[in-house]
Amino acid sequence: MQLPSTLLENAVAQFAKLPGIGKKTALRLVLHLLKQDVNDVQYFGETIAKMRRDIQFCQRCFNVSDGALCSICSNGARKQHLICVVETIRDVIAIESTQQFNGTYHVLGGIISPLDGIGPDQLNIETLVERVEAEQTEELLFALNPNIQGDTTIYYIQRKIGHLPCKVTTIARGIAFGGELEYADEMTLARSIANRLPIGQYVK
Ligand SMILES: [Zn+2]
Repeated sequence: MQLPSTLLENAVAQFAKLPGIGKKTALRLVLHLLKQDVNDVQYFGETIAKMRRDIQFCQRCFNVSDGALCSICSNGARKQHLICVVETIRDVIAIESTQQFNGTYHVLGGIISPLDGIGPDQLNIETLVERVEAEQTEELLFALNPNIQGDTTIYYIQRKIGHLPCKVTTIARGIAFGGELEYADEMTLARSIANRLPIGQYVK
């Protein structure tokens, strides 16, 4: 793509570095910015730079935060003895969007995956074990992706905290809402049957 300006070309190249943004989309976004007020574009750029520079990670749960403790950890109305264990910050955002969870989180920063060279030491697991012990956590709810790595991670952490009086649960796994039985894979269907619910719990 030949552009008539090096300044334009540089800006397009920066946008094209973003995931899911090709050169054409990048150009469309840059041309859109070109039509905006200079101050607005400056604020746009400064906001992004400030976010990158000033953002912190919560010392307790490793969620993104504006201070030492995130807004969830410092909220007295949340159940501080209930910890939902997730892989990434995106999972925290997804669960928060449901408005169905009133506990706290612990972001592992990944899952155990020996094939990718990711072991327990590279994840926030030790801090979780220490936290469960120090805070006398009542329940650890695993909300990891349903795959071998997720199960390995659950198994590993469960063994580490086995001596503590903490209830360990996992989010339900089964047929997706709106899905069709005949298209579900055998493992999903088998889990759905094994983890069946009394109808009163299902419809509530
Ligand atoms: Zn936190």
